[in-house]
Amino acid sequence: MEFDVIVIGGGHAGAEAAAASARLGARTALLTHKRATIGTMSCNPAIGGLGKGHLVREIDALDGIMGRCADAGGIQFRLLNRKKGPAVRGPRTQADRALYLKAVQDALAEFESLSIVEGEAFDLTITEGVVRGVVLKDGRALQARAVVLTTGTFLNGLIHIGDKTIPAGRVGEDPSLGLSGTLERLGLRLGRLKTGTPARLDGTTIDWAGLDRQSADELPVPFSFMTDRITNRQIDCGITRTTPESHRIIRDNILRSAMYSGQIKGVGPRYCPSIEDKIQRFGDRDGHQIFLEPEGLEDSTVYPNGISTSLPEDVQTRFIHSIPGLERVDIKQFGYAIEYDYVDPMQLHPTLECKVQTGLFLAGQINGTTGYEEAAAQGLVAGFNAALLVQGREPQVFSRTESYIGVMLDDLTSRGVTEPYRMFTSRAEYRLTLRADNADLRLTPLAIALGAASPARTARFKAYQRSFDDGRALLQALEITPAQARQVGLTVNQDGRRRSASELLSYPDIDLKRLQAIWPELTAIAPGVSEALENDASYAVYVDRQRDDIESVQREEQRTIPPGFDYRALPGLSIELQQKLERAQPANMAQLSRVDGVTPAAVSLVLGLIKRQH
Ligand code: FAD
Repeated sequence: MEFDVIVIGGGHAGAEAAAASARLGARTALLTHKRATIGTMSCNPAIGGLGKGHLVREIDALDGIMGRCADAGGIQFRLLNRKKGPAVRGPRTQADRALYLKAVQDALAEFESLSIVEGEAFDLTITEGVVRGVVLKDGRALQARAVVLTTGTFLNGLIHIGDKTIPAGRVGEDPSLGLSGTLERLGLRLGRLKTGTPARLDGTTIDWAGLDRQSADELPVPFSFMTDRITNRQIDCGITRTTPESHRIIRDNILRSAMYSGQIKGVGPRYCPSIEDKIQRFGDRDGHQIFLEPEGLEDSTVYPNGISTSLPEDVQTRFIHSIPGLERVDIKQFGYAIEYDYVDPMQLHPTLECKVQTGLFLAGQINGTTGYEEAAAQGLVAGFNAALLVQGREPQVFSRTESYIGVMLDDLTSRGVTEPYRMFTSRAEYRLTLRADNADLRLTPLAIALGAASPARTARFKAYQRSFDDGRALLQALEITPAQARQVGLTVNQDGRRRSASELLSYPDIDLKRLQAIWPELTAIAPGVSEALENDASYAVYVDRQRDDIESVQREEQRTIPPGFDYRALPGLSIELQQKLERAQPANMAQLSRVDGVTPAAVSLVLGLIKRQH
C-alpha cells in the first residue's frame, strides 16, 4: 500500500499528526497496534491545565482535533488561576475517557485522505538514505516518503510494580521492541525515562459522605473556537488526603518500591512525583491532597489524582485503605511505573524531522516529553511538516515569540531534556502576548495560509477577526479628557492628557462594561471578542515594551546556520563549546544563543564566519 505520509502510533501525538497531514491533503496512513485504542488516555482523565491549556487552544487555532474532542468529552470544566492575570490562566477539563476516545475516532473518520491500518511497525525501509516506508511485524510493508514516529511509552516499555516487571507499552498492551534498534542503527542517541500512574478505584465503594467536593465552573468555557457550548452534564470531584498512617506504611515499605529499590534506572517527571517521592522529599506535612476524579459519566471507575506509585500491590492496598473515604474501597487496577526509551530531541530540527534522516519525524513522549497536550502539539507540527516535505513545500517552523508550541519545540531541540518535559507558562518569555484567549488571532491565519483550516473555521474566524478589528478601532477612536473622566466617576490622573477607551481598559478597575455605560456605542462589540479586546488593551503597554525583544529574536531566528557548519574552524571557541555546538547543531542564531555555555563573544565568532562564508 502506498501513502504520502505514515504516522506510527495512535496516541495523542499520532492522532494529531495524522489529522494535520490529512488536512494538508496528503494521503496519510495511521498505523497503530489497535484501532480501538486510538485516543486512549493512558493516565489521568483530563485535558488542559496550566500551560497545557494554552497548548490545547493553540492546537485548536491550527484546526487540530484535541480542543474539539475535549469539548465533546469534558465533564468538569474549570479555569485554573482565575484570580491571576489572564496570561497565566489555564483552561482544564476532566474528561470522560470513553467520550473523549470516541470523539478522537470520529474526528479522524472525517478525513477522506486518512486510512487507519492496524498492526505493529517493526522497522523502517530506508534505501540510499531515503525513507521509503515501514515494515510491519507480520511482514506487511507500507510505502511512503515521510514517516512520523509517535510510539509514546511503548519503545522497550517495562512496567514495574514492586519487584515485578512486565514488558508492556502501558498496562495490558505489548511493548514495541523492534524500532529502538532501527533508531540506534540510524545513529540516534536514546535514553531511558520513566513515568507512573496511580491505582484505579471502584467509585461505588468509596465513602463520599464527609469528603470535600470540587465543582465545575458554573459557565463552562469550551476549548475550541468551533464549539458553541458544552452540553455534557458537569460533575464534582471528591477531595481527600493521605494520613500519618498512610505515610508510615509507605515509609516502612519504601525499599519495596521499584523506584527506591534501584530497579528503575530512568528519570521521572519532577512535577508529577509519585506518592513515595512526595513522602521522601516533602516529609509528612499534614497529608498530601488527593482528587478523586470520576473517569466517566457512565463509568464507576475513579482516578485518585496525586498518588501514583510503583509500590507492590499489598502495600498499595494498605496505604489506600488508610485514606479517609477509601477505607473499604475496591481497587480495580493497581498503580505502576513504566520505563521506556526516548530519543534525545536535540537530534531533531525544529520541524521535528531527524537531523540524521530526512523524511523521518518524531513526536510526543518519544521526544522526552510528558502529557497528552505536549504530545498532541508536537504531533501537529510533525504531521504538517511531513506533509509539506512530501508536497515539496517550505517547512513550517513555529517561533517561541508567537506560540507556546514554538517555545516547546525550541526548548526541546535546542536544550534537550534531562527529565520528562512538561509545559508551564513560566517557560514562555512573551506570555503576555501568548495568551489562551488570543490563540486564534495568533495562529488561525497561519492555518488558513497553509491550507489546513476547514472552510467552516475559516469563515467563522474571518468574521471574528473583523469584529475584533472593528472593536479595537472603536476603542482607540473614543477619547475622554481627565475632567470628563472624573465627571463619570473614573479615577485617572488629572494631567490634562486625553485618553482613549482602549487606554482606559489598561486600568485594573475599568472594564468594558463600565465603558459601555459611558459610550453606549461600545455595546455593539460582539460578546465573543470582548474578552480578547479587554486583555489586549490591558496588556498593551507591556506588549509594546516586549516588541523590541520579540523583533530581535525573530531577526536572529531568520539568520540560519547551514547544516553541518564546522565549529572546529573557529579556534576562538573552546573545544568543549565546539563539541557542544556540534552535537546541538542549532538551526539558527537564536537557537545557538540559547545553547548552554554560549557567550556573546561566541555568537559573534560564529556570525562572523557565516558572513565570510556566504
Ligand atoms: P501514547 O499515548 O503512549 O501512544 C502511543 C501509541 O503508539 C499507542 O497507540 C500505541 O499502540 C502505538 N504504538 C507504539 N508502538 C507502536 C508500533 N511499533 N507500531 C504501531 N503502533 C505503535 N502524562 C502526564 O502528563 N502526567 C502523568 O501523570 C502521566 N502519567 C503516565 C503514566 C503512565 C503509566 C503512562 C503510560 C503515561 C503517563 N503519562 C502522563 C503520559 C501520557 O500518557 C503521554 O504523555 C501521552 O499519552 C503521550 O502521547 P503519545 O502520543 O506520545 O503516546
